[in-house]
Amino acid sequence: MAPDKVQRPAVTLDPAPHFTDRDAPREIRYIIIHTIEGSARSAIGWFKNPASHVSAHYVIAYDGSITQMVDDQDVAWHAGTREHNDHGIGIEHEGYASQDGWTRKQLVASAALGRWLCATYGIQGDRAHILGHEEIAPGRRSDPGPHFPWDRYLAMIRTGRDPRAEPAPPVAGGAAAPAASRDPVEEALARAQGLEERGDDFRAVEGYRRLLNDHDDHPLAARARERLEAILGDPLRRSRVEAEEVEAECRGWASLAESYIAHRRRASAEDFLRRIRDIYPETPHARKAAARLVGLDELEWETDE
Ligand SMILES: [Zn+2]
Repeated sequence: MAPDKVQRPAVTLDPAPHFTDRDAPREIRYIIIHTIEGSARSAIGWFKNPASHVSAHYVIAYDGSITQMVDDQDVAWHAGTREHNDHGIGIEHEGYASQDGWTRKQLVASAALGRWLCATYGIQGDRAHILGHEEIAPGRRSDPGPHFPWDRYLAMIRTGRDPRAEPAPPVAGGAAAPAASRDPVEEALARAQGLEERGDDFRAVEGYRRLLNDHDDHPLAARARERLEAILGDPLRRSRVEAEEVEAECRGWASLAESYIAHRRRASAEDFLRRIRDIYPETPHARKAAARLVGLDELEWETDE
């Protein structure tokens, strides 16, 4: 891989205050793969929050947009081990370790970035140097989880191409498409439209976005984009969708926190309760999380993390 042949993908800068400044260039040996356990927006908010004391170099959203939050030459606070913080680049991905939510656009963007990092810093693009957070923090972390497509990702880093060929899109048949057609994109579109017709804009938006993030080049993508713009272009519908997104994220973190409490893992429980309290302070969830945080002192903790 000659560095001059590998293009750096476009990134948006949005600096986080949490990093260790290095006077001299550091030796970069690793790429550490993470999942946020939430939205890209929440990760960016959390890393910028003065109270979080965590960060990563990059955050990659489902739609493939890349936000750089710490300079490559500075040490971001993401790995939990000195060696991997000092010599690693941390990449956070929108989504959940327990879910197979990886989108094509997200993987393409992440691998393009990884390919550029390898070429630029001489990182070896193998599994000894491109690592999951769970591998360097066994027992404490479980990201990026069992659904991360390691072989496909490493092949994309090596070759710059996605080995999983997209199925050829069907000829656009319009309204007369045969009923026997089981095109998964067509089914996904019909599902999202059904949700929209039933008034569930929140899940319809999720469905349209997923279709666009996985199958942007499909003839039906234009229809999904049109419906998405119709919903998000309406201020009332848009604000309801956004409120439900916050609601779902807070509920997810609250339930993660409770499961960490049940497993006596205080630091992780606190992490998710603090995210609720500090990222969405105006919500009723934030008040509950703040109360729960205070209550943690009264619980018994077997071990500290
Ligand atoms: Zn992680």
